Amino acid sequence: MPKPHIYVERTLAVIKPDAVHHADEIEDIITQNGFSVLQKRKVQLTPEQASELYSEHFGKMFFPSLITYMSSGPIVALVIAKDKAISSWRELIGPTNALIAKQSHPDSLRAKYGTDDQQNALHGSDSFTSAEKEIRFFFPDSIVEPISIGDSAKS
Ligand code: ADP
Ligand code: MG
Repeated sequence: MPKPHIYVERTLAVIKPDAVHHADEIEDIITQNGFSVLQKRKVQLTPEQASELYSEHFGKMFFPSLITYMSSGPIVALVIAKDKAISSWRELIGPTNALIAKQSHPDSLRAKYGTDDQQNALHGSDSFTSAEKEIRFFFPDSIVEPISIGDSAKS
């Protein structure tokens, strides 16, 4: 009989340089909202690495300052899991522009920790494909297979 598989959706959350001093508090909020933290790393991106992470925005007016911002200090990358993790995390962080978030989504994390359209404290993957790609960017050895139940002692 085939083993049952459980798949719990995962996404990449990043606490950006402007919010990293609130990392413990933000991690508490993440778990209070029902996410499991599967992996966590504190790193400082080089400008080249930040450009790779944000390559979809290459050529846009804000790209150079985005790269300067994202490589300006340490960041915390977390793989978080929950049912509908990708959309749920995007909802919790709120609109991209923290100034708009403060108006329309005052309870969101970008409203609470962000400053403006660039310094918005948090990142969340926007799709299944980008979540897989971004998780692999920060955690190249990450296991992506679903978990098998009842297969414990088998080698
Ligand atoms: P999100 O992070 O919500 O997915 P985008 O992918 O559009 O938003 O943009 C990536 C990041 O680039 C944003 O989180 C923000 O830090 C920055 N950014 C986006 N739009 C602007 C803008 N108009 N001016 C300055 N920075 C921006
Ligand atoms: Mg985006």
